[in-house]
Amino acid sequence: MVRQRQYKHSAGLLLEKGYVGKGSKLLKGNKGHSFSKIGDAGMCGFYFVEEQTTFVVMNRRYQVPLDDLNTFHIHALAESMIYLTNLEECKALFADQNLLEEIHFIGGGSNILLTEDIKGLTVLNQLKGKSVIHETDDEVHVKFMSGENWHECVLWCVENNLGGIENLSLIPGTIGAAPIQNIGAYGVELKDVFVTLEAIDVNTGAVHVFSNAECEFGYRDSIFKHKVKGQYFILSVTLSLSKQHVCHTEYGMIAEELQKMGVEKPDIRSVSDAVIKIRSSKLPNPDHIGNAGSFFKNPIVTQEHFQSLKIHYPDLPSYPVEEGIKVPAAWLIEHSGPSSNQSWKGYRRGDCGVHERQALVLVNYGEASGKEILELSTRIITSVQQRFNILLEREVNVW
Ligand code: FAD
Ligand code: NAP
Repeated sequence: MVRQRQYKHSAGLLLEKGYVGKGSKLLKGNKGHSFSKIGDAGMCGFYFVEEQTTFVVMNRRYQVPLDDLNTFHIHALAESMIYLTNLEECKALFADQNLLEEIHFIGGGSNILLTEDIKGLTVLNQLKGKSVIHETDDEVHVKFMSGENWHECVLWCVENNLGGIENLSLIPGTIGAAPIQNIGAYGVELKDVFVTLEAIDVNTGAVHVFSNAECEFGYRDSIFKHKVKGQYFILSVTLSLSKQHVCHTEYGMIAEELQKMGVEKPDIRSVSDAVIKIRSSKLPNPDHIGNAGSFFKNPIVTQEHFQSLKIHYPDLPSYPVEEGIKVPAAWLIEHSGPSSNQSWKGYRRGDCGVHERQALVLVNYGEASGKEILELSTRIITSVQQRFNILLEREVNVW
């Protein structure tokens, strides 16, 4: 597991006393120039460290199975892995240019599809902590460290009567991944409460603060999926949470669920409870069936395209949005299939398939490989395009 300690000794003494062992990594400290080379601590005499040098020791593991670190439960290996638990480790890691040939970040692994082993270094984010950094009569700004679990933070907010993210209850994953695709559900998106994030540039080690505008948030989208993809490691995210709440209950089945629960005057707790109930009944739990939530984004088509589709498919649901007309991808997938008389919904071949209750969710029933799931997604994209002339875009990050 992760160990991080600061020592004021020579490297020779550390090795002699057994403070550092095989698999540990000596990283640059406040006298980084004093190493002639940075290498595995197990390899004595590989470097020179002056007396009184302070440095960070991090455990590095090799050939790490990722099965439990991705919610699809795909079997793959990380060539090497570091578990990041504090800011000193981050600074040391990204100050060390030798480490940065190929680098991948994993939070909760709930939005990735592994199609092969991961080469180079994989960083597992375990940065924890939260703090109130600003407060007025109406709002509170809370800074969450990026390795915090998203849903636990939502529950913490509800517990502390802080509103704004209750509709985003039960979304798996970490705080740090939330801005990557501007997570959204039930009419609320991260960008609605987002203030800033701090991210470290993996090429320079410099920390940059991104404002809401700089993140270029869009529908399940941000700058981190395009222009600066892979360039930044997100350290923390600051959200603006309300003390005077406005509940959003008009989306999807929330109002219906609140009625079933006998709630007349919804508050943030009852909305969160309703969302948790709906999601638990509709979505497959990744602990039981491997999946990464919605595999595809809902496409947005032009008004003309939509009108032409409506002639042939009068039941096609639609939601007007700024850019055009949003059409539910689940409906398109359900109304196309591997053959003319079969729907994709509930389709299964081997251990990979389309969930029987939710056509947007591709699933791994056991031993499916990432390549098989990717191939199935390509078949779905092709058949939806042939039938509706709409090109579905994958939401999940394919590695
Ligand atoms: P990971 O899968 O670990 O990573 C996703 C991407 O972000 C990767 O490219 C990774 O490299 C990058 N990344 C992760 N952490 C960092 C970091 N600190 N710095 C830089 N890059 C980073 N999404 C929604 O938007 N709405 C939903 O309602 C929703 N429901 C879901 C339901 C289920 C059952 C599942 C399995 C998934 C659902 N998702 C949903 C998708 C997913 O949970 C979110 O996208 C979530 O934010 C991913 O978090 P993660 O920590 O698991 O990210
Ligand atoms: P749903 O309520 O059955 O609705 C189907 C689709 O219609 C949703 O995808 C939603 O789009 C859209 N929709 C419904 N009501 C709408 C409205 N009033 N205005 C605009 N669009 C509307 O959806 P669901 O599958 O049960 O999911 C519920 C929510 O959780 C959705 O917001 C969905 O995005 C989110 N979710 C996301 C993931 C993921 O992995 N990304 C997984 C599960 C659930 P939007 O998707 O654009 O909201």
